[in-house]
Amino acid sequence: MATINDNYLKLKAGYLFPEIARRVSAFAEANPDAPIIKLGIGDITEPLPAACRQAMIQAVEEMGDRATFKGYGPEQGYLWLREKIAQHDFQARGCDIDPSEIFISDGSKCDCGNILDIFGNDNSIAVTDPVYPVYVDTNVMAGHTGPVNDRGEYEGLVYLPINAENSFTASIPNHKVDLIYLCFPNNPTGAIATREHLQAWVNYARAHSSIILFDAAYEGFITDASTPHSIYEMEGARDCAIEFRSFSKNAGFTGIRCALTVVPKSLVGKAADGSDVALHGLWNRRQSTKFNGVSYPVQRGAEAVYSADGQAQTRALIDFYMENARIIREQLTAAGLTVYGGVNAPYVWVKTPNGLSSWDFFDKLLHTCHVVGTPGSGFGAAGEGYFRISAFNSRDNVVEAMHRVTEKFRR
Ligand SMILES: *Cc1c(COP(=O)(O)O)cnc(C)c1O
Repeated sequence: MATINDNYLKLKAGYLFPEIARRVSAFAEANPDAPIIKLGIGDITEPLPAACRQAMIQAVEEMGDRATFKGYGPEQGYLWLREKIAQHDFQARGCDIDPSEIFISDGSKCDCGNILDIFGNDNSIAVTDPVYPVYVDTNVMAGHTGPVNDRGEYEGLVYLPINAENSFTASIPNHKVDLIYLCFPNNPTGAIATREHLQAWVNYARAHSSIILFDAAYEGFITDASTPHSIYEMEGARDCAIEFRSFSKNAGFTGIRCALTVVPKSLVGKAADGSDVALHGLWNRRQSTKFNGVSYPVQRGAEAVYSADGQAQTRALIDFYMENARIIREQLTAAGLTVYGGVNAPYVWVKTPNGLSSWDFFDKLLHTCHVVGTPGSGFGAAGEGYFRISAFNSRDNVVEAMHRVTEKFRR
C-alpha cells in the first residue's frame, strides 16, 4: 500500500473555523429567529472595482479572436504587469526592485506555503504568536516540526509572543533563527511595524544570514504616513527578505486570484557543499516546473488596479472598509472594551473583558448580541484573552452589530 506523508497527521484537526461554525449553527438551531451577523471571516464583501472588471471583460474578448488569443503565458507573469508593480509598489517608494525579481501567482497563501520548496529541512523557523496559521501548518506538512502540544504549539518552532505589552511586535530573538515570518499590517492583530522595528529585523537577519518572509497582504490599508509599506524600504533588505503581496484584500481579488512574490536576485542561501546559491534562480525553477502562470484576463484585471480609475476605485474600497473599522473601534471603546488595530488594517483586536477566555467571549457575544467574531486563541496560544473583529462587511451589518454590542456592554 502507498504510504502517506505522516506529517499531515500532526496537524491540529482544522479546529478554529469548524468549531466556530459548529457553535453558530447550534445557536441558530436553538434560536431560529436570532439575526446573526458574522464579523469573523477574513474575506472581503464588496464587489470588484469597475476598472478591473472592464479590463477582464476586454481580455476575455481578446481570447475569443484568433489574432489576439493567448495560450500559456510566462510562468513568472506578463512583463507589462510586473513592470507596473515594480514601478508603483516599489520604485515609487524608493525600493530598488526590478520587474525580473517579481513573480506573479494565483495567491499569497500558496506562495507562503510553496516557498518552503526552495529551503532545506533543517532550518530553525520563527513565527509570531498569534500568527496567520498558513505559515505554521505548511511547515508542519513539510516535516519541519515535531508534534503539537496541548497549547497548540509545535515542537521545534520558535514562537515569538506578540501582545499589548510589546505593541504586538515581537522582541527580536537573542539567538539565531534561519527563517522568520513577519506579517505587517498584521493579521490577526491589526498591528503595524515602525520603520525602526523593521530595520532592527533586517539588521538581525543580515547579522545571522537569516531570511525574512515578509507578508504584506494588507499593505494597501496603511494610513500612517510614517509606516513602511515594503520591507525593501529598509536598508539592506534586498540581502535578507522575500516579500509576498496580494490583490485579494486591496482590490477585492479573493475570488479572482492574483498575487506576487518578490525574490531579489541578491538573496542567497547555503547549499550542502557550503556554497552560496541565489534563491531567485531556485524560485524561478520551482515556479517554471510546478506552475503555469496566472490566466491572461486575471493579469489584465490586476494591471487595471494601477490605472487612474483603478487607483481611485481601490482607494474607495479600502476607505469603505476602514470606515467600518473606525466604527467598530469607536463603538467597542464606547462599550468599555479595550481595542487594538483597525487603523492601518481591516482587523480590530479586542481584549476580552473581565479576564474572559477567547471562547467564553465568543459565546457571550453570540448569545447576547448574535454577533460572531474569531477567538484570538485560534491564532496561537498567546492570542488567548483576545478576539478578532473583521471590518470586511456591509456598513449596515457593522452598524447594527456595534449597536447591539454597545447596548449590551455599556454600563
Ligand atoms: C488574505 C491573506 C493573504 C492573501 O492570500 P491570497 O491567497 O493572496 O488570497 C495573505 N496573507 C495573509 C496574512 C492574509 O490574511
